[in-house]
Amino acid sequence: MEETLDTEITIEAPAHTVWAVLDNIARYPDWNPLVPELRGRTTVGKQVEGVLTREGMPTVPLKPTLTAIVGARELRWLSERPTPGEFRAEHYFLLEETGNGSTRLIHNEDFAGTFLEQVWEPINTLGRAAYEKMNVALKARAENYASEIPAIHPTADAGSYTSESLEGKTMRCGCAIAPVEVAINAPVYHNHLCGCSKCWKPENALLAMIAVVPAGNLEVIDGGEKLEAVEKDLKIVRYACRDCGSHMFGQVEDVDHHFFGLDFIHPELVDGPAPRLEFAGFVSSLVETGTEPARMSAIRARLSDLGIPFYDAFSPEIMDIIAWHKVKLAKS
Ligand SMILES: [Zn+2]
Ligand SMILES: [Zn+2]
Repeated sequence: MEETLDTEITIEAPAHTVWAVLDNIARYPDWNPLVPELRGRTTVGKQVEGVLTREGMPTVPLKPTLTAIVGARELRWLSERPTPGEFRAEHYFLLEETGNGSTRLIHNEDFAGTFLEQVWEPINTLGRAAYEKMNVALKARAENYASEIPAIHPTADAGSYTSESLEGKTMRCGCAIAPVEVAINAPVYHNHLCGCSKCWKPENALLAMIAVVPAGNLEVIDGGEKLEAVEKDLKIVRYACRDCGSHMFGQVEDVDHHFFGLDFIHPELVDGPAPRLEFAGFVSSLVETGTEPARMSAIRARLSDLGIPFYDAFSPEIMDIIAWHKVKLAKS
């Protein structure tokens, strides 16, 4: 005997977001009424372990083998009784993008085996209701993530920039008393947001704000004794106030580095508005520093609304400059 339990639902969220909810099995206890517990590593060929709960049916232990994981598209696991031909159940989720920002979720299970005859009737009725309940819960959770309007950075959120370059202005660290003060004696360029794990950001910012000045134009005018290098062996060495933690500037020592000749600053340390934000770089790195993957679509949508192009490295303009720098180095 073979049967398929077939359910589906349309979710007003990108497949990326739906997947991020589905793939994060450690969070199933927070929302999943059908599989309220699932532990283990989500790797093809590995087993995960949990329970299956369906109203009106006994709660059963679940220890399936993951048979297919295609990020943002497909998840499958297989449960099988040891006796061949007795009972086999392949549970799967297919995510189809509809083209208008929503996702069609197909949530099915293919059953086969001699034992199925005894259990198909309750699976088809009570089981189906439980699957549909999970679909509704998944929809609610994914739509909640997708409708978030995340705070990006106070400067970006306010959307008010200065057309001045910040030349002649002074950066001050976060210390209320005796702050470190650094004068900017050249124009500031390429102001942008960065999601990497190294750039400093104030507590109320999701992404850091960074710009560059031609090297040799930053002048420590006060509190220099409080400045300390954060990680000396990085290509860009950041100098921070040891009292408040504000990063004051970053410098490049390697003459062959593509950013040699530039110093990095945080324009929010200057009083008043910052120059226009040209782009947001290394956005996907936010995931590495603790942002839930399910929030990422909403973060990108917000950047888009704010008119800030976003990339997972630098902007194409800067990536091309770096690539050309490598070509030049190889020739010299
Ligand atoms: Zn300070
Ligand atoms: Zn960065």
